Amino acid sequence: MNEPLVIVGTGLAGYTLAREFRKLDETTPLILISADDGEFYSKPVLSTGFGKGKDADALVTASAERMAGQLGAQVLVRREVTRLEPQARRIWLGDQALDYRDLVLALGAQPLAAPVGGEAGDAIFAVNDLDDYRRLQQAIRGPSRILIMGAGLIGCEFANDLASAGHRVEVVSPSRHLMPGLLPEEVAGAVQGALEGLGVRFHFGAVLEYLQRQGDGLQARLSDGRSLACDLVLSAVGLRPRTGLAQAARLAVARGIVVDRWLRASQPNIHALGDCAEVDGHSLLYVMPLMSAARALARTLAGEPTAVSYGVMPVTVKTPACSLIVAPPASGAAGQWQVEGSGTDRRALYLDGEGRLLGYALAGQATQERQALSRQLPPLMAD
Ligand SMILES: Cc1cc2nc3c(=O)[nH]c(=O)nc-3n(C[C@H](O)[C@H](O)[C@H](O)COP(=O)(O)OP(=O)(O)OC[C@H]3O[C@@H](n4cnc5c(N)ncnc54)[C@H](O)[C@@H]3O)c2cc1C
Repeated sequence: MNEPLVIVGTGLAGYTLAREFRKLDETTPLILISADDGEFYSKPVLSTGFGKGKDADALVTASAERMAGQLGAQVLVRREVTRLEPQARRIWLGDQALDYRDLVLALGAQPLAAPVGGEAGDAIFAVNDLDDYRRLQQAIRGPSRILIMGAGLIGCEFANDLASAGHRVEVVSPSRHLMPGLLPEEVAGAVQGALEGLGVRFHFGAVLEYLQRQGDGLQARLSDGRSLACDLVLSAVGLRPRTGLAQAARLAVARGIVVDRWLRASQPNIHALGDCAEVDGHSLLYVMPLMSAARALARTLAGEPTAVSYGVMPVTVKTPACSLIVAPPASGAAGQWQVEGSGTDRRALYLDGEGRLLGYALAGQATQERQALSRQLPPLMAD
């Protein structure tokens, strides 16, 4: 029998690759493996579902069985790949071995956990997949006081969503302003003002140190000595590419699993894409890069070696209180922010010494300039 193409992961990366591959090759046996239920859903909707009153099942577009049928694939769910054996072209699911022709790692990223003292650690949630979303939804009964750890993109999206669902939201972050890696201070201030308009309160320059039960609720102690009352905590302090399996098999790993522009890992017949992969030095935890990677890798796996190239990839931040689009400059790009506008309408350009545009952040009305500015940006990774 022909050996299969094996894809580990049924997130957007795994399923998109499988779809693209099937457009080019209808016969090679295809096996997808997932530690979760293998349902198809778009992860970005996890931070907009509460405001719309959607439960986890309402976010699912197709069951694993339906995906298997559509893809002419076997989808193994609630199965965890525990070991890779690159020399033998074999993986292990516990004590069950599976041989492959080619292996693709689409393992995603996992939420970081910040250390918090106290006995109420079970009241700290993170939302990175449907199971997490379901758990948080079950924990929230009626209007609640929710403390969010982290004021990055995901923390701010949840703050907006949970506040618009009627909850009282407080955000604690060690940074000086929200989305510090993405936005200059003035634009962050505009977004903050809009979220405060929904009732969200921010506590910067502090972290949650200690969480304990008090009566029916919780008492949160911050590093600056303040005390806040809440009913549960949502942790959104960052994500880390899942690299453990690859590292244990001696594949090259940096921030993510190291792959070249052909999405090839450091051992033969193994590829990686999506949040777990670091593609030619780029570790980008967004949908657009993984779509480009899936199209290129599908061709390669169907016999036509194809390198991925990234164009301009602006990110739409889902904070409806203040519309926001960011095209972050490549990491390490030397330049400075130049900010114009007032209120929530802000236009921030990241310019190098010669005045060339390397990135932008647009809020409110200024988001209309997205296309004109994108045309001036250099591609993230040229052909
Ligand atoms: C709340 C939230 C909002 C977001 N909003 C946006 C947005 O608006 N725009 C945007 O571009 N990006 C957004 N992102 C990022 C985007 O969702 C991710 O970049 C993308 O979904 C990653 O897909 P993936 O397939 O690489 O990983 P994942 O979706 O994490 O999938 C990983 C898969 O691997 C499986 N797996 C892991 N380990 C094993 C194992 N050992 N054995 C078997 N299976 C395993 C998991 O079960 C899962 O099926 C958001 C992310 C979050 C968390």
